[in-house]
Amino acid sequence: MKYENFSAKKLQICVFFCNFAPKMENLYRHLYHWYEINHRILPWRETEDPYAIWLSEIILQQTRVAQGMEYYMRFLNRWPTVEDLAKADEAEVLREWQGLGYYSRARNLHKAAKMIGSSFPKTFEELRALPGVGDYTAGAIASFAYNLPYPAMDGNVYRVVARLLDIDEAFDTSAGKKLFHQKIEELLDREHPRLFNSAIMEFGALHCTPALGDACMTCPLQECCLGYAHGTAEVLPVRKPRPKVRDRWFTYHVYLCGDETLIRRREEKDIWYHLYEFPCEEGQTEDKYPFTHVLSHQKLHARFIVHNVQKMPDIAGTICIRWDELNDYALSRLTLRALDTMQHKA
Ligand code: SF4
Repeated sequence: MKYENFSAKKLQICVFFCNFAPKMENLYRHLYHWYEINHRILPWRETEDPYAIWLSEIILQQTRVAQGMEYYMRFLNRWPTVEDLAKADEAEVLREWQGLGYYSRARNLHKAAKMIGSSFPKTFEELRALPGVGDYTAGAIASFAYNLPYPAMDGNVYRVVARLLDIDEAFDTSAGKKLFHQKIEELLDREHPRLFNSAIMEFGALHCTPALGDACMTCPLQECCLGYAHGTAEVLPVRKPRPKVRDRWFTYHVYLCGDETLIRRREEKDIWYHLYEFPCEEGQTEDKYPFTHVLSHQKLHARFIVHNVQKMPDIAGTICIRWDELNDYALSRLTLRALDTMQHKA
């Protein structure tokens, strides 16, 4: 071995792991004790029904728990089993999803329900093969529903692991993912994977949060935490530099003729595929764009111009509907916000 290639940091991690094995019991004990006292009562953590767990995991991707809860209850009430969801129309599913954003999640949910049929997949590999299910979601369902020993690495877990082990490799690169995956495999409590995954996720969500404040002072894992010991916890985890955000400008035309209006379905392979909106043109002008809507890699600027007309214009691809029928169509969040503003002004 070339000693110059063996960095001080690697040595520390190695020493940590050498000494860590006997301390693992302590880590689990402190973590589980913390979890028992502090965890939130979340309906998807109180069930072992793989369908309900899957639903919650898909809804909670890029969605806050408070908002996700409402959608989770609504979906389960409307489609209590995976067979029920498979029988629904895609348009109904999108309509129910309205307001959550990232509609590909809803389309994949529906597609997967159709593939599943009556028997929910029971292995990690079968779960991973479903559309919209990556390593994290497959690990979450496998451990929460079947108590199988797979990690579930969400953003909270990446953060806790980066700090506990003082890992300064960016977690969102392929090399970083591989390293973190290897570390969580070493940390995972194989006897109690359901409890371990629930506890470490909740610990990241509630205690070892992005803004640490004085959390380390009261932390039950402090004695096992390299990030705390080295004073690096605050700057971890490390991300790769974000891609440049693309700005786009949209002008929407809201035609009103009596109680009717025009809408169109987005058919382009672009944002909001298969959602409905008012006729629209894209491109920047000198005018003001009062609405801003931020997506992961795009910043949208929009304005809505109301035209009171005697006769509807003939615009290709649009349909004429009554204003009060707008609720029956899946609309983008931006359009919903604009409608909300218009209704407040009316
Ligand atoms: S000591 Fe601080 S950084 Fe380490 S696990 Fe606890 S809260 Fe997180």
